[in-house]
Amino acid sequence: MTRLEVVRAGLTEVRSRIATAAEASGRDPGEVTLVVVTKFFPETDVRLLADLGVTDVGENRHQEAEAKAAACADLGLRWHFIGGLQSNKAASIARYAHVVQSVDRAKVLSGLSRGAAERGETVDCLVQVSLDPPGASGRSGVDPGEAGHLAEAVAGTEALRLRGVMGVAPLGGDPQQAFALLSRVRGEVASSVDGLCWMSAGMSGDLEAAVAAGATHVRVGSAVLGPRPRIK
Ligand SMILES: *Cc1c(COP(=O)(O)O)cnc(C)c1O
Repeated sequence: MTRLEVVRAGLTEVRSRIATAAEASGRDPGEVTLVVVTKFFPETDVRLLADLGVTDVGENRHQEAEAKAAACADLGLRWHFIGGLQSNKAASIARYAHVVQSVDRAKVLSGLSRGAAERGETVDCLVQVSLDPPGASGRSGVDPGEAGHLAEAVAGTEALRLRGVMGVAPLGGDPQQAFALLSRVRGEVASSVDGLCWMSAGMSGDLEAAVAAGATHVRVGSAVLGPRPRIK
């Protein structure tokens, strides 16, 4: 199989999983945006994805994302930043990302807002909510109880637009339970959001549970593109 055939097959499979999950919970599959996570995969794969009708791609490392977004600027894709945010990189990320899904503390807001303003665009932001048990190590995201405050802070910035919430189900945990928590936080944040409140949840292994819980965006990498290449 050529790379195009592999990617097309992965995409077809994932789109059909999303459609089946949506229909099973009485939702319109068109309500769920597929964000293909292209981290570690080359620009050539991003081009194949665009040819196959993908509109949204996700990256989690700033330098890689910046280079790929620049190299693929002609494709008109929406770039989602889904990785850990360092405050000193925030402005640079807001210069190419259309959506920053991983806003986890107020400290990154001034940088993000400045980068967006310099670019002359509004950047969509999601508050990343930690779905791990309290005290778990390596958790990322704001505590569920703090999400409302952070969401208000995002909504109060000049050049950022609060869109909703994002979460990653804990490894080895119950995704249904995790996404139910995220959905509750979404309900609390919704009043600060102008328009539909987005919920980004679900990856290759748990997208069905996310769609059932009301996800508007799923972030899928390996189920579309195959196992990630090793870091060089
Ligand atoms: C890598 C990544 C994904 C995609 O993971 P897969 O299991 O390959 O689908 C989704 N969300 C985040 C935050 C990621 O870092």
